[in-house]
Amino acid sequence: MNLSETPKTTKKLSELIAIGSKRWNQVFNDWGNDFSACALESALRIIEPKDYQGYRNSRTISILVGIDPKLTLSCPICHNEYEICSLVMHLNDQERWLSARITDFLAKNGY
Ligand SMILES: [Zn+2]
Repeated sequence: MNLSETPKTTKKLSELIAIGSKRWNQVFNDWGNDFSACALESALRIIEPKDYQGYRNSRTISILVGIDPKLTLSCPICHNEYEICSLVMHLNDQERWLSARITDFLAKNGY
């Protein structure tokens, strides 16, 4: 995998999830399959439609979407602190938030 530090999109993470969540059904505790995707994977597939399986890593996805992997936010439910893309996975898998709620939360926080 050849990952440059240059973002592959000018769209915000919330916009990518909003677009992707219209194409695939949301899944929990899994990246997804041909018909489904978790919130983070739905964003990944928009910017990396062919080789997305090789990029299934929250830090890698942070770089692809232009988010500094050192930036964190706390979960509004359990208040644990996560890197932004890790928080998306946490909200999807542990808090069971639907993609639209994740999108709203990210947009309100500037992502
Ligand atoms: Zn939480």
